[in-house]
Amino acid sequence: MLDLVIKNGTIVDGTGSQGVLTDLAVKNGEIVELGKLRSYEARVTINAQGLYVCPGFIDIQNHSDSYWTLFDYPKQDSMIAQGITTITVGQCGASLAPLPSIDAIKSVQKWHSLSGVNINWQHFEELLVQIERQELGVNVASLVGHSTLRRGLIGDTVRALTSQEVKMLEKLTTQSLRSGAWGMSMGLAYAHEYNSSISELDSAATLLKERDRLLSVHLRSEGAHILDALDEVLHLAEATRVRMKISHFKLQGANNWPLFPELLSRLEQAYQKGLAVSFDVYPYTTSWTVLYTYLPKWAYEGGREQLIKRLSEPYHRNRILQALLESRKDLSSVKIATTTEAPHLIGRTLLDIAADQGVSPEEAILNILLSTESEVVVFDNNTSEEHLHALLTHPLSMIASNGAGFPANISQHTRNLVHPRCFGSTAQFLSLARNKKILTLEQAIHKVTGRPAEILGLADRGLLKSRMKADLVIFDYESLRDLATFENPYQSPLGIRWVIIGGKLALAEGELTGGAFGRVLRAE
Ligand SMILES: [Zn+2]
Repeated sequence: MLDLVIKNGTIVDGTGSQGVLTDLAVKNGEIVELGKLRSYEARVTINAQGLYVCPGFIDIQNHSDSYWTLFDYPKQDSMIAQGITTITVGQCGASLAPLPSIDAIKSVQKWHSLSGVNINWQHFEELLVQIERQELGVNVASLVGHSTLRRGLIGDTVRALTSQEVKMLEKLTTQSLRSGAWGMSMGLAYAHEYNSSISELDSAATLLKERDRLLSVHLRSEGAHILDALDEVLHLAEATRVRMKISHFKLQGANNWPLFPELLSRLEQAYQKGLAVSFDVYPYTTSWTVLYTYLPKWAYEGGREQLIKRLSEPYHRNRILQALLESRKDLSSVKIATTTEAPHLIGRTLLDIAADQGVSPEEAILNILLSTESEVVVFDNNTSEEHLHALLTHPLSMIASNGAGFPANISQHTRNLVHPRCFGSTAQFLSLARNKKILTLEQAIHKVTGRPAEILGLADRGLLKSRMKADLVIFDYESLRDLATFENPYQSPLGIRWVIIGGKLALAEGELTGGAFGRVLRAE
């Protein structure tokens, strides 16, 4: 007896090859047959006539851990409802383990307040066990965060690591990789990694190369200094031959847009030289950015407490203000999205807030950071649509949400605005591919299935073939549409009809079943 049969759908297998009209059978959580089934017995049969059947989407850049929603809402409705069956967390330098000291966990507080959270793990394996104990809606793979390790070793101290500390970092990294981390992430733009020495980064990347694990990097700059930032990581890839993915690749700020052709050309040259480089991109021109990163680096050197101290002292505050004014970025349309401390500011632009306060938008930033203790995330529409299309269609790209999973009905419980990518990334991307005719359906599906699986090293997911895990999405391409907006992000897309995780129905006929079929995935 088969567990599940999907009849008469167009099977798009995740490799990029053309779809084929046929059937698919599942038993014990695995795909057991692909092809026309004549006589069979199955517990569940889905008629997929007129629909597409493809591998479950793999979100290779996800923040459900650092936004803490993996614990608050482990079912991750907004991921399932957009067809995502596996998320990869521990991104941008911040993972939730290992915790060589309790300081290490503070790497996530730029995204989410840590007050009241319960942390009963220390090692990477202990974290995975805690995640596993919950009613997990999706599969979870985690990287180990470089910032988490570094901060766990030296706290807020501003300096390069000593050779003994580098050895400790290597030991903790190796332990985490042995416990199933799929690689490491770096967040070079953030306060606690900014002072990493080249040799520190080199030693971490070498460990990854030895075990053939992925390095996922958030570049030191995504604006005026992006070429230097790219060169930095390409040198690292060249020196260590590590497999490297650049996270949420984009070029921010209209002043910097002329750098785009050179940026892509340097990346392509590196690939042509044989470096294993790739990047992920989310399909929106608006970013969801931590507010403090708009300040000059020295202003937040040493972390949050140092920043707050500087903002409170007239001399330093004035220096920061002057630097912001001199940078001549137009910040007036930047909008407050997420903050626990000042909910009345949510949804308002810096221009509005500045007018209320009778100050400039630059000064308003300082006031907001001070009053919220720097836990503020903003929306900033600052990348070009033309560049976005070039990145989405680029042979080196994959599509990822860079968002977090939320419950379907959360809008009643929060004033916070999340980025619509948390609800609609995949539908936004696939409908863009369809409407603008920038990719075939098969090419587009490859960028959310087979390609991220290969880059992450997931051998048993991301493709439809015999013996692969039965993580599947069945959707209506004609009616597929992203409904999540910046004003009302808490809306799941139209057109995703069924989502199957490990052979079980997580979404049936467009409705969440409430089942918790996700597992923690460990690299071996
Ligand atoms: Zn990042």
